[in-house]
Amino acid sequence: MRKVVVLLLALFAVQLGAQDMTHYKRIVKELSSARYQGRGYAHGGANKAGKYLERQYRKAGADEVVLQPFTIDINTFPGKMAMWADGKKLKAGVDFSMREYSPGVHGEFPVYHVDTLNFDADSMFADLAKPEYANALVCCDFWFAYRHKEAFGRLQKAGECTNAGLIQTWTSPIKFYKAYGEKVVDKPIVWVTPEAIEGVKSVRLDVDNEFLPGYGLFNVIAKVAGERHDSCYVFTAHYDHLGNLGRKVYYAGANDNASGTAALVTLAAYYAKNRPAYDMYFLSVSGEDANLRGSEYFAQHPIFPLEQIKYLFNLDMIGDNNPVQYCEVSDPGMRGFALFEQINSEQHYFQALNRGELAANSDHYPFASRGVPCIFLENEDGDAFPWYHTIYDTWKNAVFDSYEPVFKLVCDFIARY
Ligand SMILES: [Zn+2]
Repeated sequence: MRKVVVLLLALFAVQLGAQDMTHYKRIVKELSSARYQGRGYAHGGANKAGKYLERQYRKAGADEVVLQPFTIDINTFPGKMAMWADGKKLKAGVDFSMREYSPGVHGEFPVYHVDTLNFDADSMFADLAKPEYANALVCCDFWFAYRHKEAFGRLQKAGECTNAGLIQTWTSPIKFYKAYGEKVVDKPIVWVTPEAIEGVKSVRLDVDNEFLPGYGLFNVIAKVAGERHDSCYVFTAHYDHLGNLGRKVYYAGANDNASGTAALVTLAAYYAKNRPAYDMYFLSVSGEDANLRGSEYFAQHPIFPLEQIKYLFNLDMIGDNNPVQYCEVSDPGMRGFALFEQINSEQHYFQALNRGELAANSDHYPFASRGVPCIFLENEDGDAFPWYHTIYDTWKNAVFDSYEPVFKLVCDFIARY
């Protein structure tokens, strides 16, 4: 009889797990779909995703769901996005992308290839003063330009040189960023794969940008009430992503960060069914890919005192399969980290927890810098990681191995902390 009961319990647990996985995957798939256009700003995708999440939290049984509005200034690429290299049409997101702070650009331009082997800034500027390179796009590797910031910074500014803008090569798969899109520089900056631009003499571009000052976003905050209200646990995950690169291309962001966003909903569902000892907040923030704007706003305008946070868990990119789990921990969170390590070695959720240095790279940071005990969990360097910030971070390429161990690790932690 006892054996039967144990077996039934085991079956019950497995089934619950399977249901939970189905629920989880459904949310990742939905958020990665074309409906949300990469959860960016150009076509309202981020806010549409926020409304969807509000409904999901209510369905999951959250006691309260509130929206916390804030604004950002942000550059977007909602319209034309076309490029030809010596007459050959390139593909947006595959062969080229734009720097987030680039203006739009329309016209035909000669390409000046920087001599990176015998580089000398003065001779580059002398070359660019020649009539054949007036209005040229200056082309070199991104990292080379980065190492010679001073010279290439001048090439971005109006009035410093007659060049039309910059082309920077980036090894395929080409990336797109958003973090510094709160401004627009004077001249366009295009990122191109080395293969697409090698030996090219002339480039045509037809790219629209739209700068959106004071664009409205919102954080979605769900609460599952615990038995005690004097302290709380907080989960954070950003639901926004990079949005569009022109009308047709969007960045689905299945791993970054539909994976963490969906986990917050299934965690809320879990705690709504298994009433916790303390209040639980599920803070789905927006504006992360525009430089942690939503989490910074919340940290400046918290809806409960930050001192009440027993522990905060930031889940950003947990859709991968590295058996070693990356994490960052704030100084006051180190006591908790010992428990994380203990649980992990007892339960073998991951081969190891690899703790890196605390950095302003995700939504735990505005809390860590204010003394909140917290951990950032990101599963990186697995099969999904090469797609980070590319058009290939899709539902089809999504990996789910790290979801369950992360889920169990944090739940065990809360039960024992
Ligand atoms: Zn992210």
